[in-house]
Amino acid sequence: MIRRDAQDGGESGYVIYVNALHSEVHRRFTIAHECDHFVLHRSLIGDGIVKDALMRAQGFSSRVEYQANQFAADMLMPRHLLDQAKNNGL
Ligand SMILES: [Zn+2]
Repeated sequence: MIRRDAQDGGESGYVIYVNALHSEVHRRFTIAHECDHFVLHRSLIGDGIVKDALMRAQGFSSRVEYQANQFAADMLMPRHLLDQAKNNGL
């Protein structure tokens, strides 16, 4: 989740939390996803985004979530590196 935190949020004023029980890959994806919400949807975050039901209640559309997922995938698996790996037979 991402939430506004004036005390621990540093310059941005926001903190991202991940579930310690999730795998490292899952946590990495969550961080990238929440970073996109910070960059593109900050005005929608309000005091925080916690779970899907709350996100919908806050007016988060599936388009916004799709956008955050796409950003996370692009950040973690850059297209040019995937293409390069494919061209190298990896
Ligand atoms: Zn989200």
